[in-house]
Amino acid sequence: MMATVLLVEDDAHVRQALLRELRLFGHVVSGAGRALDALREVAAGGPDVVVLDLGLPDLDGGEALKMLRAVSDVPVIVATARDGEQEIIRLLGSGADDYLTKPFSAGHLHARIEAVLRRTRTATRSETLTVGALRVDVDRREATLEGRPLQLSRKEFDLLAHLARHAGRVVRRQELLAEVWRQPGGDDQTIDVHLSWLRRKLGERAAAPRYLHTVRGVGVMLTAPE
Ligand code: CA
Repeated sequence: MMATVLLVEDDAHVRQALLRELRLFGHVVSGAGRALDALREVAAGGPDVVVLDLGLPDLDGGEALKMLRAVSDVPVIVATARDGEQEIIRLLGSGADDYLTKPFSAGHLHARIEAVLRRTRTATRSETLTVGALRVDVDRREATLEGRPLQLSRKEFDLLAHLARHAGRVVRRQELLAEVWRQPGGDDQTIDVHLSWLRRKLGERAAAPRYLHTVRGVGVMLTAPE
């Protein structure tokens, strides 16, 4: 798993040695000696992962981490000579993804980089729900039917995504009110109106449902047509 790595370390010897070795592992690596240079590079959208030394000349490591988090959700591995448990807990709590205690080998760092990327890449992989020829990309908030994009309002999309997540089972009206409208005990008619809009956008009629099935007195079910 190759990555673009930004190594923030003010000790030029340590930095050069790690850069060289990380390149041997196949990573694309750049270095920064100061926190502000690192922030600039991260804000420009560069690295897949940041390795952040906590003892930098211009900013306290904890501050640097906070500022990094303000501009990006890039995974950060903090490198610390201080191995106090409280310090590590505090850093993990303020947005570090992992830590290494100095001194460490490039091999160890490489293994941590791979582990962090495995976790974050799995977590950010977009959730796409498929029901028959209907595809719902939850993160990008896009839905297509037979490859054609559906123009859905915000609530229509939320409704479709919730039904798609529970495809093949009847979703009760109370559940839709609670989960999609976030108002348990809300107005039933709201659901009916949105369902009829959604149905029209799916190109079907209540009398001849394909995907969207109303179960009278119970709820709604999204399912792939036979
Ligand atoms: Ca340092």
